[in-house]
Amino acid sequence: QSQELSEVQIDYHAALQALVENGTRMVCTGRMHTDRICRFESLCYSTEAEEFVYFHSNSSVMLPNLGSRRFQPALLDLSSVEDHNTQYFNFVELPAAALKFMPKPVFVPDVALIANRFNPDNLMHVFHDDLLPIYYTMQQFSDLDLEARLFFMEGWSEGVHFDLYKLLSNKQPLLREELKTLGRLLCFTKSYVGLSKITTWYQYGFVQPQGPKANILVSGNEIRQFTKFMMQKLNISLEEGSGEEYIVVFSRTINRLILNEAELILALAQEFQMKTISVSLEEHSFSDIVRLISNASMLLSMHGAQLVMSLFLPRGATVVELFPYAINPEHYTPYKTLATLPGMDLQYIAWQNTDREDTVTYPDRPWDQGGIAHLDKAEQERIIKSTEVPRHLCCRNPEWLFRAYQDTKVNIPSLIHTIRQTVKSKPGPKKQKWSGSLYPGKVRDAKCQASVQGTSEAKLAVSWQIPWNLRYLKVREVKYEVWIQEQGENTYMPYILSHQNHTFSENIKPFTIYLVWIRCIFNKNLLGPFANVLLCST
Ligand code: UDP
Repeated sequence: QSQELSEVQIDYHAALQALVENGTRMVCTGRMHTDRICRFESLCYSTEAEEFVYFHSNSSVMLPNLGSRRFQPALLDLSSVEDHNTQYFNFVELPAAALKFMPKPVFVPDVALIANRFNPDNLMHVFHDDLLPIYYTMQQFSDLDLEARLFFMEGWSEGVHFDLYKLLSNKQPLLREELKTLGRLLCFTKSYVGLSKITTWYQYGFVQPQGPKANILVSGNEIRQFTKFMMQKLNISLEEGSGEEYIVVFSRTINRLILNEAELILALAQEFQMKTISVSLEEHSFSDIVRLISNASMLLSMHGAQLVMSLFLPRGATVVELFPYAINPEHYTPYKTLATLPGMDLQYIAWQNTDREDTVTYPDRPWDQGGIAHLDKAEQERIIKSTEVPRHLCCRNPEWLFRAYQDTKVNIPSLIHTIRQTVKSKPGPKKQKWSGSLYPGKVRDAKCQASVQGTSEAKLAVSWQIPWNLRYLKVREVKYEVWIQEQGENTYMPYILSHQNHTFSENIKPFTIYLVWIRCIFNKNLLGPFANVLLCST
């Protein structure tokens, strides 16, 4: 069923002739392999060689034409994880004439998006590295619509969250292994290769310890447009403000457990006077979890991939992340960064177990579940004595894994105290005033007039008009920032003003040229652009 590519009938002979005559055509966006996405016509894939093939002919196009720089290190990243050396894309080249000697091509009629999933068994990776990037790559190119087909080339099997990937298009996604069943040489009529990284907010620590990305470009609005799409596909309606308020405890049942979960749930219910329910990936369907989280006032969970589900929380909700002993919450912030993206409007609270008595370690488990028995005795002892895991690179640091897979008996008074420092009354969706922040445009018609009094005193009268967009907005506070800079000097005098004109006399000298920079500021922190600099001679 999934192998049914020929829903769209194509004229095989015409397609083959076009491939032989026109070869492959590629035009890419992006200046470096890390920000590149390429659009191809007639990109082929040899399922025997497991290589993409570019056919040269008189009409083929290759932009950028990088020469051998195409291998330094690659044409592009096939996953959304930046510059990961297991995720590179390239193709081999052949003359179109070679097609005569090759297996008969099988044409893929659907518009294809070709990419790698990064870690399809981990929910954080699924959303952050795959689903959001795929969704917004599809938004970027109009022919990647719901009739497009996804091709996952990383080589994994479907994985436990495959149903989520299926929501992104109406066609069954195809895996690398399945391509073999389609033919020996596949030719994609139209395809896009690579994923947009514009929505990612976290780097996992391959070259420097993990942390928020340096230049985050996504806001809560885009996250919620995505979750709205996913919820529509899952047939979950957003009931606004209806029904009872409640807290969701997202538990793990295999490892990194909360040992006194029942007690914790009772305490939360008591403290916040709210129903408190517990969910887990093992015991609930994905849809049920989304339905519950999307109306919750608070989501509480151990650090771990399941916390990426705070994506689905309503504005104003609170995220409480619990960290096991010796794990510094400031060093592991994928969920904090998510909750505090501009416009996510979530309250984020971290709690850490600081009491050795309340932790249960598993030194004898396999290394990938945090066991340390394979290390030498001295190292084991150092780790067991240590009170904090030092910063480290991804992904196999044994001290980190040892501490990450501890179980925790949560000190309930300590946790409630931590939550209460942030959540004063009842948690949860407040009557949100629309907090969309719009920036001012440039001030208009700036003018200056100088007057000289004697040989040592001068004045500069500067005036301007409000930014054009202000007349259509309700803004609580409008201020103007004016910088006065003597021509040729590096320094300037800054002023914050409430009116549209001002006469400057301090430090203004006669027979001098001043540069005057003016910008508008809404509500203290929404800084507009400077208008064209004004040249004023006294
Ligand atoms: N997971 C889970 N329950 C468990 C342990 C793990 O649901 O008891 C899920 C977890 O949310 C993630 C995947 O299994 O999606 C892999 O978990 P792992 O501990 O490897 O990663 P982490 O949560 O630390 O990112």
